[in-house]
Amino acid sequence: MKIQEPPTSHIIRGIISDLDGVAYRGDSAIPSSVRAFRTWHEQGLPYAFVTNNSTKSAAQFAAKLTSIGIPAEARQVFNTISATTSLLARRWPQGTPVFAIGEQPLRTAIEAAGYDLTSEDPEVVVLGFDSTLDYAKLRTTIRAALAGAAIVATNPDVLTPGHDGYDPCVGVMTAAVVAAVPSAKPVVVGKPQPFLIERALEHLGTAKHETIMIGDQLATDIAAGNAAGLRSVLLASDVPFNAATGVVPDRVVSSLLDLLDATSERAGPLS
Ligand SMILES: [Mg+2]
Repeated sequence: MKIQEPPTSHIIRGIISDLDGVAYRGDSAIPSSVRAFRTWHEQGLPYAFVTNNSTKSAAQFAAKLTSIGIPAEARQVFNTISATTSLLARRWPQGTPVFAIGEQPLRTAIEAAGYDLTSEDPEVVVLGFDSTLDYAKLRTTIRAALAGAAIVATNPDVLTPGHDGYDPCVGVMTAAVVAAVPSAKPVVVGKPQPFLIERALEHLGTAKHETIMIGDQLATDIAAGNAAGLRSVLLASDVPFNAATGVVPDRVVSSLLDLLDATSERAGPLS
């Protein structure tokens, strides 16, 4: 039987981490993070990833992580695609007309969940990150909102880190809808809701007080980690607006390598 550590324990037995801005920025790996995750993999320390990004499937994220040197399988990745289809399934019957702004993996998952993707009189509009967002999609969304369609946003982020700066994210679209249709009350999936972290924690099977949530954004990652009852670690970055959130992490590090001391006890004998 495992001995329960007091809540103040600094031992880390499980890691849940954000992706964009922690493992990589855009398509560029963060080398110190890669080294940290490789060490944890070698130590047998379990880790999982939670991302508000809905542009790739779990398998595609795992492949991206593996390509930059972080061993990962699809079952270790929890993203807002499955969280969004879970929400749809809880609230609307299959066959409900849905207009979705988003990349193909999100749209494919919504269709696979039994919903009819259409721009004609949708009852639900799903807002996801879409690099081909255009005026026609925005107009369809606004008109649907005016007609009373429910608005579901995959995540609240207004900015997402790219390789050469920050890109506008789903929160910008949500803000546009609310600006045009103040009566619209978007439902927001993803962090800071604790849903993704709770699924990742179930996968790890570790106790909350022995598990950390690592992220680069206070308003989403750290708020979600705190809401889920985990200890939260902020990877310090230049994320705009972080200072204004009022959310406090349990620890701030400048590199994930700074966490290796707290995880080294997990290392087994070399034999
Ligand atoms: Mg991030």
